[in-house]
Amino acid sequence: MKRIEKEGQMIILGYKKVNKTKFPVILCENDRGMMKFWCHYCKSYHYHGMADGLRASHCYNQDSEYGNGYIITMNENYMKDGAKKWKL
Ligand SMILES: [Zn+2]
Repeated sequence: MKRIEKEGQMIILGYKKVNKTKFPVILCENDRGMMKFWCHYCKSYHYHGMADGLRASHCYNQDSEYGNGYIITMNENYMKDGAKKWKL
């Protein structure tokens, strides 16, 4: 993984339960067709394919709160509209 030392901004929109596990909902940005967010545990960006939803964590930091995974979205109103359905 390419390390990026410059600290970026990370936006957690809230938390959402899926099958009784609570996951953070993280706002991503579009970086050349990939969804990207800054992880302050790994001190690097995590990249995922372009689709909102629950993802396995890319964290390598064992202390990360994202070990179980996280929900990524590019919709900053995600927690408000509540209309989305998620597949595991
Ligand atoms: Zn991480």
